[in-house]
Amino acid sequence: MSLSEITARIAKAEASAGRPAGSTKLIAVSKVQPDERVEAVLQEGHRLFGENRVQEAAGKWPAFVDTYPDAKVHLLGPLQTNKARQAFELFEAIHSLDRPKLAKAFARLAQELGHCPEMFVQVNTGEEPQKAGVLPAEADNFIAECRALDLPLAGLMCIPPADEEPSLHFALLGKIAARNGLSGLSMGMSGDFESAVALGATHVRVGSAIFGSRAYEL
Ligand SMILES: *Cc1c(COP(=O)(O)O)cnc(C)c1O
Repeated sequence: MSLSEITARIAKAEASAGRPAGSTKLIAVSKVQPDERVEAVLQEGHRLFGENRVQEAAGKWPAFVDTYPDAKVHLLGPLQTNKARQAFELFEAIHSLDRPKLAKAFARLAQELGHCPEMFVQVNTGEEPQKAGVLPAEADNFIAECRALDLPLAGLMCIPPADEEPSLHFALLGKIAARNGLSGLSMGMSGDFESAVALGATHVRVGSAIFGSRAYEL
């Protein structure tokens, strides 16, 4: 699928949900993709990208940003505390804030550096043991803790279980966000971004549908 097809489908989903045109941001997930494919999407004028790993992003994005200074990258994958400082340099937003230790490290860095990427709290809506994210029952407390640290919270993020109806998880994430007064919802990937838009996604994270399948999975 081309980038323009994806944007057209997002626009259509926004319209049928009665949402304003352009209220959903498309994050093109470029992890593992060859540089030529990423360059092609940059040349089409797209500027918002997502990566899963600090190291991979550090290896490829500084050069792209030299050529396309308005390109922005969001971190979508799990973050080790010892990479938090590097993440501050590379990313406009971080979608994987999921534990107090990381929140405290971010708060210290924000004070020291005088800036902070926007933060999405990742919620493990499917309560899967192998998956990152705070449990739904712990979300309200953790959000309050992040606010007490003055972190710039943009919203919530989830990755639904592969074998469940994603819209149930999108609806749950929306409910937790609403009761906490958060407007950002990072949800929806290649297979389900339209239902995420229908349920209020402000950021959809689409990889393989734009770039083609990845040579290997992370
Ligand atoms: C890889 C990834 C995506 C994109 O997945 P596709 O199915 O290729 O669209 C979105 N979000 C996260 C967190 C990812 O790791």
